[in-house]
Amino acid sequence: VFLLILVVFIMAAVWLSNSMSKKAMIPIQQAYRQQQQFLADASHELRTPLSIMNTSLDVIELENGQDFSAFTKEVVVDMKEEVGRMSRMVQHLLLLARSDAGSVEFEKASFDLVPKVRQWVQTIEAVAHKKQISLKAELPEQLAVTGDVERIKQLVYILLDNAIKYTPEGGTVDVALSSSPKQWSLSIRDTGMGIPEHALPRIFDRFYRVEEHRSREEGSAGLGLSIAKWIAESHQGSIEVKSALGKGSTFIVRFPIV
Ligand code: ADP
Repeated sequence: VFLLILVVFIMAAVWLSNSMSKKAMIPIQQAYRQQQQFLADASHELRTPLSIMNTSLDVIELENGQDFSAFTKEVVVDMKEEVGRMSRMVQHLLLLARSDAGSVEFEKASFDLVPKVRQWVQTIEAVAHKKQISLKAELPEQLAVTGDVERIKQLVYILLDNAIKYTPEGGTVDVALSSSPKQWSLSIRDTGMGIPEHALPRIFDRFYRVEEHRSREEGSAGLGLSIAKWIAESHQGSIEVKSALGKGSTFIVRFPIV
């Protein structure tokens, strides 16, 4: 009888713990899904006011730009920069939420990467110029690749933006694009503050920032490199970093030639 009671007791305990853990699982999964949905909805909603602010600033500049004092000109430029930075952050959050939900579709096509890289570098040149950073690009004549051009653009912007952001005034940023029969690679080398060795293994983690204070000053969230890595890996490519503290960093992206 004692044995029977013991067996019944153990079975009851096992059943109870199973049903409790199942109950505990549901709210956690639900909470996670709700959090994901909230992140996706919030970033989606933020996109519209930000793009309206951007367009309004363009209109103000176009219509009254010639009457601006030097001070007002500077304020408008600063506002445009901040709106741009916020838009990128919102874009990153939205992309992360979508990638977690598995709802990002890559639109892969064949295109010449050279004019694209030239254009992206030209677009970001104004930001480099403001910090007296010399930005140079060494590009081949042409390079036919296959991939999602919008995502590759995002990846390149993340690396260029970081290189300029973490390089002090008067530094240099060099972009080089090259290829072999099997792969193409893009390297972005800066003479910036560099990354300490202990941080290198974590640099591509979501929300990771080296010395939080220095990044927060720049208004960053530690999302860029995790997105860059995700984009590279979604193309069966890779991303690597070499860095020396106080001397600079080189990020190298390699994509297979399909
Ligand atoms: P963030 O938005 O903070 O720049 P990232 O994911 O792009 O986020 O980068 C993570 C961290 O890696 C940054 O906070 C910064 O400390 C460091 N980092 C990234 N790129 C560079 C670079 N080119 N030079 C020095 N540090 C860098």
